Amino acid sequence: MKRQCAWCGKGLGPVALPTNKGGEEISHGICSMCEFHMKASSATMELNDYIEDFPHPIVITGNDRVILNANRVARVALGKDNVPVQKLPAGKVFECKNAFLPGGCGKTVHCGTCNLRKVIMDTFNFEKQYQDEQIIIEQAPDDSSRALKMSVSSLKIDGVVYLKIRFI
Ligand SMILES: [Zn+2]
Repeated sequence: MKRQCAWCGKGLGPVALPTNKGGEEISHGICSMCEFHMKASSATMELNDYIEDFPHPIVITGNDRVILNANRVARVALGKDNVPVQKLPAGKVFECKNAFLPGGCGKTVHCGTCNLRKVIMDTFNFEKQYQDEQIIIEQAPDDSSRALKMSVSSLKIDGVVYLKIRFI
Protein backbone atom coordinates (compact mmCIF):
# COMPACT_ATOMS: atom_id res chain seq x y z
CA MET A 1 0.00 0.00 0.00
CA LYS A 2 1.35 3.39 -1.01
CA ARG A 3 0.54 6.75 0.40
CA GLN A 4 -0.27 9.39 -2.18
CA CYS A 5 -0.13 13.15 -2.13
CA ALA A 6 -3.81 14.10 -2.21
CA TRP A 7 -2.93 17.27 -4.09
CA CYS A 8 -0.67 16.32 -7.00
CA GLY A 9 -1.24 12.55 -6.91
CA LYS A 10 2.43 11.71 -6.55
CA GLY A 11 3.46 8.84 -4.33
CA LEU A 12 4.76 9.57 -0.84
CA GLY A 13 6.26 6.11 -0.46
CA PRO A 14 4.94 3.02 1.26
CA VAL A 15 3.57 3.21 4.78
CA ALA A 16 2.81 0.58 7.35
CA LEU A 17 -0.88 -0.13 7.51
CA PRO A 18 -2.74 -0.62 10.75
CA THR A 19 -3.46 -4.36 10.77
CA ASN A 20 -7.16 -3.94 11.44
CA LYS A 21 -7.69 -1.76 8.39
CA GLY A 22 -6.27 -3.79 5.54
CA GLY A 23 -6.72 -2.51 2.02
CA GLU A 24 -7.79 1.01 2.83
CA GLU A 25 -6.29 3.65 0.59
CA ILE A 26 -4.32 6.25 2.50
CA SER A 27 -4.23 9.50 0.65
CA HIS A 28 -4.62 12.48 2.94
CA GLY A 29 -0.96 13.36 2.78
CA ILE A 30 0.64 16.29 1.08
CA CYS A 31 4.07 16.05 -0.52
CA SER A 32 6.83 18.49 0.41
CA MET A 33 6.75 20.02 -3.09
CA CYS A 34 3.04 20.90 -2.89
CA GLU A 35 3.43 22.21 0.65
CA PHE A 36 6.38 24.37 -0.37
CA HIS A 37 4.49 25.93 -3.28
CA MET A 38 1.28 26.44 -1.30
CA LYS A 39 3.19 28.23 1.45
CA ALA A 40 4.92 30.41 -1.12
CA SER A 41 1.56 31.29 -2.70
CA SER A 42 -0.11 31.94 0.66
CA ALA A 43 2.49 34.53 1.56
CA THR A 44 1.86 36.67 -1.52
CA MET A 45 -1.65 35.55 -2.53
CA GLU A 46 -0.27 35.25 -6.04
CA LEU A 47 -0.34 31.73 -7.40
CA ASN A 48 3.05 30.50 -8.51
CA ASP A 49 3.37 28.45 -11.69
CA TYR A 50 3.25 25.16 -9.81
CA ILE A 51 -0.26 25.73 -8.49
CA GLU A 52 -1.43 27.78 -11.47
CA ASP A 53 -0.57 24.81 -13.71
CA PHE A 54 -1.84 22.16 -11.31
CA PRO A 55 -3.91 19.49 -13.13
CA HIS A 56 -6.82 19.88 -10.67
CA PRO A 57 -8.89 22.97 -9.98
CA ILE A 58 -7.57 24.73 -6.85
CA VAL A 59 -9.41 27.53 -5.07
CA ILE A 60 -8.00 29.47 -2.11
CA THR A 61 -10.30 31.14 0.40
CA GLY A 62 -10.17 32.94 3.72
CA ASN A 63 -12.40 32.15 6.70
CA ASP A 64 -15.03 34.59 5.52
CA ARG A 65 -15.50 32.46 2.38
CA VAL A 66 -13.99 35.17 0.23
CA ILE A 67 -12.07 33.75 -2.71
CA LEU A 68 -8.44 34.79 -2.56
CA ASN A 69 -7.38 33.08 -5.75
CA ALA A 70 -8.16 30.24 -8.14
CA ASN A 71 -5.82 28.45 -10.51
CA ARG A 72 -6.21 28.28 -14.27
CA VAL A 73 -8.23 25.04 -14.53
CA ALA A 74 -10.54 26.24 -11.76
CA ARG A 75 -11.13 29.57 -13.48
CA VAL A 76 -11.83 27.89 -16.82
CA ALA A 77 -14.15 25.29 -15.24
CA LEU A 78 -16.10 28.05 -13.49
CA GLY A 79 -16.29 30.16 -16.64
CA LYS A 80 -14.19 32.86 -14.96
CA ASP A 81 -11.05 32.70 -17.06
CA ASN A 82 -11.43 36.29 -18.22
CA VAL A 83 -12.91 37.92 -15.13
CA PRO A 84 -11.25 38.45 -11.77
CA VAL A 85 -12.32 36.12 -8.96
CA GLN A 86 -10.20 37.63 -6.18
CA LYS A 87 -12.03 39.09 -3.18
CA LEU A 88 -15.44 37.84 -4.36
CA PRO A 89 -17.60 35.72 -2.04
CA ALA A 90 -17.41 32.01 -2.89
CA GLY A 91 -21.13 31.95 -3.69
CA LYS A 92 -20.64 34.52 -6.42
CA VAL A 93 -17.71 32.69 -7.98
CA PHE A 94 -19.58 29.36 -7.89
CA GLU A 95 -22.77 31.15 -9.01
CA CYS A 96 -24.79 29.82 -6.06
CA LYS A 97 -28.37 30.97 -6.44
CA ASN A 98 -28.46 32.04 -2.78
CA ALA A 99 -25.56 34.43 -3.26
CA PHE A 100 -27.87 36.59 -5.34
CA LEU A 101 -30.58 36.76 -2.65
CA PRO A 102 -30.81 39.67 -0.18
CA GLY A 103 -28.00 39.34 2.36
CA GLY A 104 -25.77 37.52 -0.08
CA CYS A 105 -23.41 34.56 0.24
CA GLY A 106 -23.32 33.15 3.77
CA LYS A 107 -26.10 35.37 5.09
CA THR A 108 -29.34 33.89 3.74
CA VAL A 109 -31.55 31.39 5.59
CA HIS A 110 -30.33 28.67 3.21
CA CYS A 111 -26.66 29.16 4.00
CA GLY A 112 -26.72 27.22 7.29
CA THR A 113 -26.90 23.95 5.35
CA CYS A 114 -24.31 24.89 2.73
CA ASN A 115 -21.65 22.18 2.57
CA LEU A 116 -19.12 24.43 0.88
CA ARG A 117 -19.43 26.91 3.75
CA LYS A 118 -19.04 24.05 6.25
CA VAL A 119 -15.91 22.72 4.56
CA ILE A 120 -14.28 26.16 4.41
CA MET A 121 -15.15 27.11 8.00
CA ASP A 122 -14.25 23.72 9.55
CA THR A 123 -10.95 23.72 7.70
CA PHE A 124 -10.18 27.29 8.73
CA ASN A 125 -11.37 27.11 12.34
CA PHE A 126 -10.54 23.52 13.29
CA GLU A 127 -7.78 22.61 10.79
CA LYS A 128 -10.03 19.83 9.60
CA GLN A 129 -8.98 18.17 6.34
CA TYR A 130 -11.85 17.07 4.17
CA GLN A 131 -11.28 14.32 1.67
CA ASP A 132 -13.54 14.16 -1.40
CA GLU A 133 -16.53 15.78 0.29
CA GLN A 134 -19.54 15.77 -2.03
CA ILE A 135 -20.94 19.26 -2.50
CA ILE A 136 -23.84 20.30 -4.69
CA ILE A 137 -24.48 23.98 -5.32
CA GLU A 138 -27.73 25.00 -6.96
CA GLN A 139 -26.84 27.77 -9.30
CA ALA A 140 -28.44 31.03 -10.32
CA PRO A 141 -30.76 31.95 -11.84
CA ASP A 142 -33.26 30.47 -9.42
CA ASP A 143 -35.66 29.32 -12.12
CA SER A 144 -33.08 27.06 -13.74
CA SER A 145 -32.09 23.62 -12.61
CA ARG A 146 -28.38 24.24 -12.95
CA ALA A 147 -26.36 22.55 -10.26
CA LEU A 148 -22.64 22.35 -9.70
CA LYS A 149 -21.60 18.94 -8.38
CA MET A 150 -18.17 18.75 -6.84
CA SER A 151 -15.95 16.50 -4.80
CA VAL A 152 -13.85 18.74 -2.57
CA SER A 153 -10.73 18.15 -0.49
CA SER A 154 -9.43 20.82 1.87
CA LEU A 155 -6.30 21.85 3.71
CA LYS A 156 -5.33 24.90 5.76
CA ILE A 157 -1.89 26.26 5.05
CA ASP A 158 -0.49 29.50 6.46
CA GLY A 159 -3.86 30.93 7.43
CA VAL A 160 -5.76 30.22 4.22
CA VAL A 161 -7.89 27.34 3.02
CA TYR A 162 -6.92 25.40 -0.10
CA LEU A 163 -9.72 23.56 -1.82
CA LYS A 164 -8.99 20.90 -4.41
CA ILE A 165 -12.05 20.44 -6.54
CA ARG A 166 -13.15 17.65 -8.80
CA PHE A 167 -16.19 18.64 -10.82
CA ILE A 168 -18.53 15.68 -11.28
ZN1 LIG B 1 1.95 16.80 -4.01
